Amino acid sequence: MSRLKAPRGTFDVLPPDGRRRLRLLQLAEEVLGRAGYEYFESPVFEETELFARGVGESTDIVQKEMFTFEDKGGRSLTLRPEATAAVCRAYVEHGMHKLAQPVKLWTWGPFFRHEAPQAGRYRQFTQVDAEVLGSQEPSVDAELILLLAEILEQAGVEGTRLRLSSLGTAESRRQYADELRAYLREHEGDLSMEVRERIDANPLRAFDSDHEGTRTVMRSAPVLIERLDPDDAEHFEEVKALLDDAGLRYEVDHTLVRGLDYYTRTVFEFESDRLGAQRGVGGGGRYDGLIEQLGGPPTPGNGWAAGIERILLAAHGGPAEDRRPVYIAVAKPGLRRDAFRVARELRAGGVATELEQAGRSMKGQFKQADRIGARATVIVGDELELKDMDSGEQRQVADAAEVLRLVGA
Ligand code: AMP
Repeated sequence: MSRLKAPRGTFDVLPPDGRRRLRLLQLAEEVLGRAGYEYFESPVFEETELFARGVGESTDIVQKEMFTFEDKGGRSLTLRPEATAAVCRAYVEHGMHKLAQPVKLWTWGPFFRHEAPQAGRYRQFTQVDAEVLGSQEPSVDAELILLLAEILEQAGVEGTRLRLSSLGTAESRRQYADELRAYLREHEGDLSMEVRERIDANPLRAFDSDHEGTRTVMRSAPVLIERLDPDDAEHFEEVKALLDDAGLRYEVDHTLVRGLDYYTRTVFEFESDRLGAQRGVGGGGRYDGLIEQLGGPPTPGNGWAAGIERILLAAHGGPAEDRRPVYIAVAKPGLRRDAFRVARELRAGGVATELEQAGRSMKGQFKQADRIGARATVIVGDELELKDMDSGEQRQVADAAEVLRLVGA
């Protein structure tokens, strides 16, 4: 029998990565919780139609990348490729428009896209995701961007760059799309096959192309950001002013076209030059028409998603190391029960504690204490002794309570 492996494009999280991920989760909770965002979860699979309608039929995600299957009742289901459509579905399903607005939510979990795996690109990956429903205010756009910037900075992500743009409203985008289509048709001969085939369905994607001829044509193409209507332009000015006030640096990049159809007004993306070809760490934007499109009341929305694996790839060391354990060494096999009790008492007192459980010699146990970076070792022998692993100082102690007093929680 051949050896079993994790499926292509997936991975196991092994120590010490597990700890880095949990710390990042805590960091997200702290930063987002402080700004009034509530944690929520939605199912890992949804009806396929949600993504077809919510992400957009012409997008790469819907056309090529979804893990879609039929359940035993013949329903078409899809492993979620992104979070926003489900958040909007939940907002409508639970009548959240009746709550005080805006509704601010965040989540964390696995997402699935059938892409060609490479460094930083997987078929199952993890996102942290924040969404604000029910407010048009430019301060929501700026707040969301600043919160992601804070998480990336505190997570230790290096070499970041923020690209920012505005896509206007659906109407100004439609007018602009017509203008762009006409321009692309004039230059059809120089465009890549893929771009040519999508002139009707999604002309904006031409800005994403790596094709040499297409890139040359796009350098002189009309740009949306110069065609915004006055309200949209003013909204964008306000978002930029708030970011300027906060001292966050960004580049306005009119070629920024997010991969999903539903965006309106502000869009943004954080990249890190510490990553290879897959340099996007996180991004998002406004989707003022999406909830209505999914059958809800007209409701503005805005949000972002950031990839956990990419954050950790681009982070130098990750969030600061916090917890150095106390190690319990057992001097004689007959004292294992005493050692077990001391470990329980220290843990109950809030101290991270590890217990010798491999039958090591005394020398081996001190080596192990060093290996795990223990700050102190309790030696359970005829007496109880406490050794400070940094100073090497050793003293006799009466019981676990005294150890707790000396090492603190
Ligand atoms: P998107 O919804 O495509 O803007 O993705 C948001 C973030 O999720 C990206 O910036 C990446 O950090 C992460 N991401 C998206 N697709 C993948 C993938 N296939 N593998 C790993 N991370 C991904």
